[in-house]
Formats: sequence, structure tokens, C-alpha cells
Amino acid sequence: MARRIEIPHVTLADYEEFAHLAPAVHQLRAEARQIAPLLEGRTLWMVNSTERGGGVAEMLPTMVGLLRELGVATQWVVLESDDPAFFSLTKRLHNLIHGEGDPDLSSAHREVFEAVNRENADQLRGWMNPGDILAVHDPQPMPLASMLCEDRDSLCVWRCHIGVDQANAQTRAAWEFLRPFAAPYRHSIFSAPEYIPDYFSSRSSVIYPAIDPLTEKNRHLSVHKIAGVLANAALAVNPGPVLTPPYTPVAERLLPTGNFAPANMSEDIGLLHRPIITQISRWDRLKGFAPLMEGFARLKMRRDDDSGIDQLHHRRLELVRLVLAGPDPASIADDPEGVEVFNELVQRYQELDSVTQRDIAFLALPMDSRDENALMINAIQRTSSIVVQNSIREGFGLTITEAMWKGVPILSNRFAVGPRQQIRDGLDGCLIDDPRDADQLAHTMETMLASPDRRDAWGRSAQRRAHEQFLIFSQLDQWLRLLGEAVRAKPS
Ligand code: UDP
Repeated sequence: MARRIEIPHVTLADYEEFAHLAPAVHQLRAEARQIAPLLEGRTLWMVNSTERGGGVAEMLPTMVGLLRELGVATQWVVLESDDPAFFSLTKRLHNLIHGEGDPDLSSAHREVFEAVNRENADQLRGWMNPGDILAVHDPQPMPLASMLCEDRDSLCVWRCHIGVDQANAQTRAAWEFLRPFAAPYRHSIFSAPEYIPDYFSSRSSVIYPAIDPLTEKNRHLSVHKIAGVLANAALAVNPGPVLTPPYTPVAERLLPTGNFAPANMSEDIGLLHRPIITQISRWDRLKGFAPLMEGFARLKMRRDDDSGIDQLHHRRLELVRLVLAGPDPASIADDPEGVEVFNELVQRYQELDSVTQRDIAFLALPMDSRDENALMINAIQRTSSIVVQNSIREGFGLTITEAMWKGVPILSNRFAVGPRQQIRDGLDGCLIDDPRDADQLAHTMETMLASPDRRDAWGRSAQRRAHEQFLIFSQLDQWLRLLGEAVRAKPS
């Protein structure tokens, strides 16, 4: 059954206090003064399929909170179901939209898809009023519009966060499956023009996802705070007394035995003093963890090559460590594929030689507290010399945006659309051609490590680009305009 999510109160004044954010807030307020009155009397219902995990759940709390601040009555609802067949179908659709998996979808699949949405629609119907706006995120709740909008004079918008730039049998199967549910949507929003299927082409916009600069994930952390977070999370050996108590539970690190233990138990990872290369993602095959691990193992082999490597660089190669982090598998029990990928990676790690194992910190981050999880990610990103997003497919990649915002240079690829939209090769970091190519990865990691000055310049440029293009303010501005135009075109 659909569930309403409460979100903490946020105010625009909090953002205005920061000199570098104030101009964007002023512009947003001015836009809202024009548009919010047009939306008066209507509630905007944002519906997605999860409260936690992944980019959409990351963005919605701030979007909803700030829209309310701007005078638009907004609610966040999560679609729910106990039926594992529904989530295995929607995961499959997700993979198919990314061009992967078995394209054979049957009428039985359609029945499950519709049945779960019908139950959720029944719940939503009791909450919504005529004239309300339904904004549906991603395929899982897509059928809601046909169940809720036509009989209620409501306005429906579909926001799709995923996609790929090349069509194949898989993408065609997914878009055909979704086609019957697309008709009631007045408008659609995609993260890149390449993603828009033909049946939405005449009623779609591109809006980039965005980050909130003041959340626990993205806010500035002082050196003391970083050290405190790492100590509290067991991500560093306790440096001495720290102000705040340990997190419960703490982050755990994979041991060569295949077991997990508090991440600082055997030895310090070195986040505060070693060169660190990091990837943080959900455990998804398309995130490219496996080739990254292999690429890092090859990078480490370079330290045995003493032809022409200067001493400092040799030391870097010796000290550098790879951090691979994602959600604690206990928190993703409803994602069987995620658990499978996690177990595969554990096995690959166990097959590495003991020296490489020591230099790879494979971390399971607890999700029990959203804030503690966010602070851990914030601190790890800030202590990284390079953040990698080695995705083979990536709708946008908020993990990239988050690191850009922190001034960390990015290593990603031009094969996936999201990374190449954000990163300009040689300006904000480096893009390789193929995320599955471990040699390219090793070579580019080495080049980046060898150039601290360029890394600084890439990081600065990345931060500036995130500031100008990928913060929540410009995203809200575009949503407001779109909603304003939609209601102007359709008076209730
Ligand atoms: N994330 C998280 N905890 C984790 C792994 C990832 O909070 O253990 C967050 C990450 O910081 C980012 C989001 O999940 O904000 C992932 O969004 P992205 O757009 O990169 O990928 P998606 O998961 O939506 O495919």
C-alpha cells in the first residue's frame, strides 16, 4: 500500500546564509513568486518506489521540502508491495531500459505490474483531490496515471531518471511494455535527450538531477569533523578521545576470510594520510565494481616496474588504496540481485593476492541511520584523492556530482551517458572509453595520481561546474517553470 513519507522541515533561509548560495536562492524565490500562485489549491504528489537508497530517494526530501517553502503544497508518497514478483519485474525493467537482460516480457508480467499499481492507486485516490498534480518517478509507479488522472481532472508528469543512448532488443522491449501506460502523461522529464523514447518526444523536457549542498552528505566538514566521523564510524583507528559517541552500527570491512568486521579492526585504512581512490555505489553489476578492482590490482603491479619511475611516484603507488563502498547487504534484503552482486564481489576479493587485499578496503556501510550513512560518505569522498564512477550504464550519477561538489577530481568514462554529461575530459577529471577495460583504468588512475597539480585544477573546475549546473536550485527552477506551463495550458 502507498505510504506517505514525512520529511524534515527545510528553509531557504538556511541556504541564503551562505554567500555562495544566496544568488541562486534569490533567483528561485523570484521565479516562485510568479509561478506558485498558479498552482494554488493543488497538491503536487511526488511518487517513487523507495524511501532509501539510490539517487531518487536522495533528491526527493529536499525537493519536497523546498517546494513547500516556495508555496507549492507537495507530498511524497512511496509505492509499496509485498509481492517479490513486482520488484523482480521492475528491476528487470530497469536493466532492460539500460539495454541488459532477457527481453521476453509476458502478459503475466503486465498483470503483476498493474495489480500492484492498482492497490497503490486505491490508496492514493483517497488522498488526492481533483486538480492535483501527480509526478511519478521512474517505471515502477508509471501505471498510476492511467488509474488516477483521467477520472479526476488531474495533471500527470512522468519523471524518468534512467536511460541509455543506444537502442537494442532489450530497450525496445522495455519501452514497448511501458507504452500503454504513457498516454495519460501530459509531460515527461528525462535526464538526457538520448533517453527519450519516440512516444514521449513531443511532450518531454530534459532536467538534470541535482544535489542539496547542505545535507549531511554534502555539507562542508572541517578537518576535525572528518576525523570524528571516521572515528565514530570505525573507518579510522581511533586517534584519541573524540567528541561524539561511536555510531551503531559501524562501517564494516571485508576480511580475506570472507567475513566482515569493524573497518578499523585489523589496521587503519589510511583515509587521512594515504592516496585514496574511491567508488561508492549500490551493488549493481552496471556500476562496474569488478573491472575497477581488477584495474586497481594492475595499477599496484606498476610499483614493481622501476624503469624511470621517480621515488615520490613509486611511494604513491605503494601507498595508494582503493575504497569500494556500498550499502550493508542487510539493508538491501529486498534487492536479491544486489545481494548476488555483493557476494560475487566478495568472492573476487577473496581470490586476490594478500597484498592487494590489504590495499582494497571493501566496505559495507550501515543504512540504519540516514544521517550517519550520509556523513560516512561525505567524509570518505572528502578524503579521496580521486573518486571513480566506473559505471557501464549510468542515468546521471549523483555520486559523481557529490564528489565534484567537494572538489574531488573524477575518473569515469564516456561510454555511459551520465558521466559524460557531467565531466568534461581533461577539465573536471578524466574519462576513459571503456569502463570494462582494466588496463585503461590502471593507466588513467596512474596518470591522475602522478599529477597532483592537475588533480587540484580538475577538482576546482568540477566544483565550479557542480555549483553552476547541478545544485537543487536550478532543478527546482525548471520544475516550477514546467508545472507553471502545464497548468496554464490546462486550467482546472
Ligand atoms: N548511496 C548511499 N549509500 C551507499 C551507496 C550510495 O547513500 O551505500 C547514495 C549515493 O551517495 C548517491 C546515491 O546513493 O547519492 C546513488 O545515486 P546515483 O545517481 O549515483 O546512482 P543510482 O543508485 O540512482 O543508480
